[in-house]
Amino acid sequence: MTNLSNHDLKYIVNTHFHGDHTGSNSHFAHKAPIFAHQNVRERLSNQAAEKSVALPVVTYEQGVNIYLSDETIKLSHFPNAHTDGDTIVYFKEANVLHTGDLFFEIGFPYIDINNGGSVEGYLTAVRKIIAQMPDDVVIIPGHGKLTNKVRYQEFADMITYSIKRINSFLAAGKNEQEILALGIGENYQHWSWYFITEEKWLKTLVADLQEN
Ligand SMILES: [Zn+2]
Ligand SMILES: [Zn+2]
Repeated sequence: MTNLSNHDLKYIVNTHFHGDHTGSNSHFAHKAPIFAHQNVRERLSNQAAEKSVALPVVTYEQGVNIYLSDETIKLSHFPNAHTDGDTIVYFKEANVLHTGDLFFEIGFPYIDINNGGSVEGYLTAVRKIIAQMPDDVVIIPGHGKLTNKVRYQEFADMITYSIKRINSFLAAGKNEQEILALGIGENYQHWSWYFITEEKWLKTLVADLQEN
């Protein structure tokens, strides 16, 4: 692992409100301003009664650009995808993208449909990001190892396939139990991992898609 620089922190970005991406806010908040989508601040504010959280102090609706002397950092929001407050962070000069949780390189994605996330919205966001990024971009996923656009496209293909498969089962009148028994199919079973197993992924797809 490369070392972090020892320069002072200038800006902190919360890519969304989940604890594994905001849990250190109170540690860093006094060192630099925290940026996030407006909905991240709102969702964290709602939790502030139970636990001490440091809130983002600069919020935006669509995104914001940060200009450093030798780097431009573009923060872009994608609506209703992993949550309702997702931001990707693109370092233009370095050609490095941090996707937040709009990419689980490790396996099936977690999609927080109870907090504004959407399976279709997630796929829309992933496709848009792939289309707008250079082919040689270096990608830091929310979960998993440092990767590239080829792997991101495989991830998009897996989600496309999953949605199509579950929609066809639902159209044929199958219920959740039957769909769980049919499974995701042999081509994509290996995307199962301890946090989002095949069963959990199928349940998310059914819960979200059967409402459409
Ligand atoms: Zn998350
Ligand atoms: Zn996460």
